[in-house]
Amino acid sequence: MKVTVVGAGNVGATCANVLAIREIASEVVLLDIKEGVSEGKAMDMMQTSPLLGFDTCVVGSTNDYAKTAGSAVVVITSGLPRKPGMTREELIGTNAGIVKTVAENILKHSPNAILIIVSNPMDTMTYLTLKATGLPKNRVIGMGGALDSSRFKYYLSQALGRPLTDVQGTVIGGHGDTTMIPLTRLATYNGVPVSQILDAAALEKVAADTMVGGATLTKLLGTSAWYAPGAAAAMLVESIVRDEKKVFPCCVSLEGEYGQKDICIGVPVVVGKNGCEEIIDYKLNAEEKDLFEKSAAAVRKMNQVLADMKVI
Ligand code: NAD
Repeated sequence: MKVTVVGAGNVGATCANVLAIREIASEVVLLDIKEGVSEGKAMDMMQTSPLLGFDTCVVGSTNDYAKTAGSAVVVITSGLPRKPGMTREELIGTNAGIVKTVAENILKHSPNAILIIVSNPMDTMTYLTLKATGLPKNRVIGMGGALDSSRFKYYLSQALGRPLTDVQGTVIGGHGDTTMIPLTRLATYNGVPVSQILDAAALEKVAADTMVGGATLTKLLGTSAWYAPGAAAAMLVESIVRDEKKVFPCCVSLEGEYGQKDICIGVPVVVGKNGCEEIIDYKLNAEEKDLFEKSAAAVRKMNQVLADMKVI
C-alpha cells in the first residue's frame, strides 16, 4: 500500500520516517517543491533501513505528482509553520492557496485517497479541503486533537508523576491556543478520574499548559514542533491502513453532531479503512458544551476568512 506525505519539512519528514520505521505502508512517497530535498530525505531514511530493519520503500519527489499515483492515504503538511509569537491563524493567507492546490493535484493521481490535513490553521484548512474537493466527509480528516491529546497526557503524567502510557485524556474543539478543550473531567489515571488525585488548581494548570503546548515548543525551537505532530499524523495513517478503528480526536465535518453543522472541528472519531467511520458522542456537561460552542464560533470566524479571500 502506498502513502504520500506532501511537504518534506519538519513534520512531513518525521511523519514519513515513522511510517517507514513502523512499516505502516510498503511505499511512502515524500513530495516537496524544494528541489532535491524530498529525494535527499528519502535516501537518508532508506539508508537507516539496514540499521533499523524495515522494508518500507521511501521515495522522494520534487513536485512530481505522477509518483504519488494510487496512494491510499495522503498526509498534507505543506505550508508555512509558526514562528515564535505567531498564532496558527496568521498562516491562513499563504497556506490556503498551498493546501487547495496540493489537494487538487493529489486527487488527479489518487482519486480514492483519504486526505489527512496537518497544515495550519488546521481546522480551516480541513474545511477548505472538504469544500474545494467535494470529497465525502469521511475522506477528509484534520490532525490536531491526536497531537493535543498527547500533549495533554504529557502534562497530566508530569503532574501525577506517573508514566505517560498509564494516563488517558482527550482534547476536543478547535486546534488553537484558545479554542482547544482539554477534557479534564474525563481524564483518567488507569481508569481513576484524575480529579480524584489532582486538585482543581493543578488540573487547571495542566489544561492551560496543554493549550499553549505548541506555543511553548515554538518559543523553545524557533519554529513549530515536529516529532509529536509527525507521529500523530502517522498514527492516524496506521489506523486507516490497518483498519484499526482506534478512536482519535480528529477534525471532521459535523452535520448536527455536538450541536454543530457546516464546520470541521475536533471530536472523537473512529478511524478505520474508510477514514472517519464514526463520530463518538461524548456526553458533555453544560460547561463543556459552552466551551465547545465558543470554540466552534472561533473556528467559524476563521473559516469566514476563506470566503472573504474568495478561496471557496
Ligand atoms: P516546514 O517549513 O518544516 O515544512 C513545510 C514544507 O512544505 C517545506 O519543506 C516547504 O517547501 C513545503 N511546501 C511549501 N509549499 C509547498 C507546495 N505547494 N507543495 C509541496 N510542498 C510545499 O514546516 P513544518 O514544521 O513541517 O510544518 C508544516 C505545517 O504543519 C505548518 O503549516 C505547521 O503550522 C503545521 N503544523 C500543524 C500541526 C498540527 O497539529 N496540525 C502541528 C505542527 C505543525
